[in-house]
Amino acid sequence: MGTTATGFHTYDDGTDVVDFGDMSNVGESDSITIGVTGIWWTGTTLVGTDQRFNQSKAWNHSGSSCCYDVWNVAAHETGHSIGLDDITGSSHEELSMYGSTYPGDVKRRTLARGDILGMRAKY
Ligand SMILES: [Zn+2]
Repeated sequence: MGTTATGFHTYDDGTDVVDFGDMSNVGESDSITIGVTGIWWTGTTLVGTDQRFNQSKAWNHSGSSCCYDVWNVAAHETGHSIGLDDITGSSHEELSMYGSTYPGDVKRRTLARGDILGMRAKY
């Protein structure tokens, strides 16, 4: 909540940030990757996380088909921030942790049963 001069890092710098930026300078594809999350652990303790949203994509929070939905992608990336992985397969398309999205997609804003089961299994 607010601003900072720091941005996404590929290492734990002690500050957890969410930013909009280039994917190419964090090892991802500007044309393919919508969001990326870094997480850092010390043993079994989560010590840091950063999230980056692709600045070259159109964003909004209305669910309009023109743009990627910030809340939708934030729910997914926050799942990564707490240690959940992407899930694939057509039977998992309703999950927040499904590893694909599209403009106007708002299905992942709300956790599905499989997301909750994944968190319970992890914690
Ligand atoms: Zn993902």
